[in-house]
Amino acid sequence: MIPFDFDYVKPESIQEAISIFRQWDAEGKEPKYFCGGTEIITMARLSQLHTKGIIDIKGIPDCRLLEWQNDLLVIGSAISLAQLEAVQYFPLLSRVCNRIADHTSRCKITIGGNICGKIMYREAILPLLVANAKLHIATDDGIKQVSIHDVIEREVQLLPHEFLLKIAVDRQVTTLPYLSEKRTRIDRIGYPIVSIAAIHNQGEVHIAFSGVCSFPFRSEKVEQALNDQTLSLEKRISSAIQEFPESVMEDHHASASFRKFIVHNLMLDTIERFERA
Ligand SMILES: Cc1cc2nc3c(=O)[nH]c(=O)nc-3n(C[C@H](O)[C@H](O)[C@H](O)COP(=O)(O)OP(=O)(O)OC[C@H]3O[C@@H](n4cnc5c(N)ncnc54)[C@H](O)[C@@H]3O)c2cc1C
Repeated sequence: MIPFDFDYVKPESIQEAISIFRQWDAEGKEPKYFCGGTEIITMARLSQLHTKGIIDIKGIPDCRLLEWQNDLLVIGSAISLAQLEAVQYFPLLSRVCNRIADHTSRCKITIGGNICGKIMYREAILPLLVANAKLHIATDDGIKQVSIHDVIEREVQLLPHEFLLKIAVDRQVTTLPYLSEKRTRIDRIGYPIVSIAAIHNQGEVHIAFSGVCSFPFRSEKVEQALNDQTLSLEKRISSAIQEFPESVMEDHHASASFRKFIVHNLMLDTIERFERA
């Protein structure tokens, strides 16, 4: 049970959503944009989140897009992970989504909620990082289009009233060779000890990670080390691990040394499979 009352609206336009957010914010209602609701409902039940106003953005047509627009794949932020898994428009994204949660939860969890949520893993970001996706952000002045790399720095950098409307990915990237692997502590379903998503583009490996540090990341320095053909494969991988943006995480799921062992082997497999093909 959610231990507090709140107002709920489902606006049908960006302007309406932002104007309600601003009004409720001014009234002290601590409004929240709502997509799949799995995280909001869980946190509210645990009293880790409080709000007097929920703004469900699934009624906004752009949030429900899932289609090719010329050479771009456009994905609305309210598209569920199960829908992305089913269409296979971007096979790497479909594969990553298939490994997040169980099927029933994936029918609810949205790509927007996964990207903007508080949970540190946010695995759906990984294919979008390697694809250099563009994010379309709903703002006071209309829709702002930005590179994913300019908005995601550890967390998604949005102003409180802004929200993620849709995502665009180049068709060419969706056709490249790809690999994705996830290792969990026990079962197929579970938070990752290590999750990686990679593509092979013009002889180079582009790779993003979750579960290794306290936020999902893709790093130029890591890729430079991995793609340095003057070094042995072992040296390329150990240099890449040295370039991780923070120390490898240690928690009740796995020690830092076990995570390093796993990520080392996953990178080794990935590069060998790409370079052999
Ligand atoms: C059983 C289970 C297993 C899971 N396992 C994994 C896992 O292995 N890996 C993983 O990465 N995740 C996992 N998750 C976490 C899950 O991915 C998040 O809870 C989920 O992504 C939240 O998505 P949602 O659509 O339900 O978001 P919501 O609950 O609607 O929103 C989450 C947060 O994002 C904000 N938000 C939502 N949409 C937008 C938007 N468009 N613009 C701006 N802000 C927005 C909301 O205000 C809220 O703060 C699991 C969840 C469950 C229930």
